Amino acid sequence: MTKMNAMNFASPRFIHRAGFRSETSSNLVHIFRHSFFGRHGRRYSALPLSPNPKSSDEELLVVVGGGAAGMYGAIMAKTAAPDLRVVVIEKAKPLSKVKISGGGRCNLTNGHFADHMLLADNYPRGNKELRGSFFKTHGPMDTMSWFCENGVELKIEEDGRVFPVSDSSSSIIDCLMSEAKMWGVSLQTGKVVTSASYTTGGKFSVKLEKRSIDYVEYVEADYLLIASGSSQQGYNIAIQLGHSVIKPVPSLFTFKIDDLRLTELSGLSFPKVEAKLKLETLRNNVPQFTQVGPMLVTHWGLSGPVILRLSAWGARYLASSEYKGTLLVDFAPDHHIDDLKSLFLNHKHHSARQKLLNSSPSELGLPKRFWKYILDHERLEGDILWASISNNSLMSIAVTLKHWSFTVKGKGQFKDEFVTAGGVPLSEIYLNTMQSRIHPRLYFAGEVLNVDGITGGFNFQNAWSGGYIAGTSIGKQSIVGIEGNSVCESVHHDN
Ligand SMILES: Cc1cc2nc3c(=O)[nH]c(=O)nc-3n(C[C@H](O)[C@H](O)[C@H](O)COP(=O)(O)OP(=O)(O)OC[C@H]3O[C@@H](n4cnc5c(N)ncnc54)[C@H](O)[C@@H]3O)c2cc1C
Repeated sequence: MTKMNAMNFASPRFIHRAGFRSETSSNLVHIFRHSFFGRHGRRYSALPLSPNPKSSDEELLVVVGGGAAGMYGAIMAKTAAPDLRVVVIEKAKPLSKVKISGGGRCNLTNGHFADHMLLADNYPRGNKELRGSFFKTHGPMDTMSWFCENGVELKIEEDGRVFPVSDSSSSIIDCLMSEAKMWGVSLQTGKVVTSASYTTGGKFSVKLEKRSIDYVEYVEADYLLIASGSSQQGYNIAIQLGHSVIKPVPSLFTFKIDDLRLTELSGLSFPKVEAKLKLETLRNNVPQFTQVGPMLVTHWGLSGPVILRLSAWGARYLASSEYKGTLLVDFAPDHHIDDLKSLFLNHKHHSARQKLLNSSPSELGLPKRFWKYILDHERLEGDILWASISNNSLMSIAVTLKHWSFTVKGKGQFKDEFVTAGGVPLSEIYLNTMQSRIHPRLYFAGEVLNVDGITGGFNFQNAWSGGYIAGTSIGKQSIVGIEGNSVCESVHHDN
């Protein structure tokens, strides 16, 4: 299989409806040079957009959205079927979220989850469904291999996050763009897919518009891959094509907490706390609503991985509680209250001649400013010696460290990573092909689906896995020429 050398930015077989008038003005959008009847009797006009227009018998895949899922899916479709014409329609700049992701470094996947069952546990929406074929077909190792094989050196950080060695998301973008170009993916930017419908022949009539000028064109596609991320337009298209959409709500955000204690502690980070989220809308004690990990105090509340994980697991419940609830924080999660009391008594014994402020049990890893805050809170002078502190005061410190309660007032504006919970339900998709259960040749991948992960590269992994499966399935289908790939057949193969 040879790679093509030039990226085809021309639009193959774009079909313009004859005499179409813009919905916003009465100006004729295009002057058409050719006119013919489509295969299914509908009258179209075609403007030759390529100097060498391809045969109208060749099949066309239209990808809605040039993000991670769309670009990866387009490349995979071409890789599987080089003769399939693949056009990506991107309303803005391609891969714009990749660019800003991971603070500009792009945390493209997570290298700590070779086991796809455990990997699925990192997805508050999708954890059950993604245990099957999804990550088995294309998991983090496959993603890493693909980028490495295509020239991107990667590194796995201690916490499992995978970044390009360059620490620049441009390495990922350059790789995807050059692979797309090499395989002959046609990328059309500045055009919005505003609607899509089925033709009588089981194809798709896709309406494209330009934002800046009165411009409308229609494309007849054999395959449609919707990879529109969390855009409302993408959800609307899914609905137009018969799918349902679970109401999108934000995930991965910080907690807004007005609390004088936090004002004093602003800027502190704790390597390990246990935080438990309590909401009125949540009756049962769900294990995922207790998280252990690093936490950061900001000037508006609490942030850090432990909070973001809670926001992800609680996304739907928090939305219905209007982002109000209670957060219980344990600053010494590795120690039972009785162990903690013994730890303080031991420390008193061994550090008897040290000043209280200058020494706290190292096992607890408490930042000095926090330790001072605790002493002030207990009305203890930092200058006194450990020997002179009463055992009652030590018991009181232990209790304080274990039981902090905060009132969550709202959702913070954390912008480092932000995803959407909700979208097209996975029950409407065959996860072994990413094909719609409602209509053959219609595919979905990425955030448009009701899948989202916690921070750590899991959200991009969803986009790569979905893009790979959809693109490869479309490519194979176009080669085998399975007419319509009936929904019943897919049931047969699904996990
Ligand atoms: C600030 C930030 C940082 C992040 N960092 C990370 C990270 O480090 N690691 C991680 O795993 N995840 C990260 N994420 C999440 C990750 O970016 C998304 O999960 C991922 O981009 C989803 O990929 P996608 O292709 O499904 O959607 P998108 O990347 O959103 O791509 C969809 C594309 O479709 C286009 N589009 C939408 N509708 C239409 C239409 N009707 N017509 C034409 N084009 C359309 C959009 O313009 C967009 O380019 C971050 C998110 C944000 C916001």
